[in-house]
Amino acid sequence: MQTIRQKIVDLLSRHEMDARELSQELGIREREVYTHLAHVARSVKAEKKKLIVYPSQCLLCGYVFDERKRFTRPGRCPQCKKSHLTRPMFQVK
Ligand SMILES: [Zn+2]
Repeated sequence: MQTIRQKIVDLLSRHEMDARELSQELGIREREVYTHLAHVARSVKAEKKKLIVYPSQCLLCGYVFDERKRFTRPGRCPQCKKSHLTRPMFQVK
């Protein structure tokens, strides 16, 4: 019996996914996915792996949120002030 966090590590080891895809795959709310991801980021370090975050990007001006530490999708672009943003993607490597 795998825990949710083990399942997340398992899924993200195979391919990159965003939080919405993870929530659908695991049958939990997206908000819960972010909580689990914070723990996963710490626990995979013990296996000499890393939770890689592919940052959100603005679809209008191309701004990349590469300084962002949080896992959630940002609200709006600081450059053009619009909110056409991609979701951050996650992978375990
Ligand atoms: Zn922008």
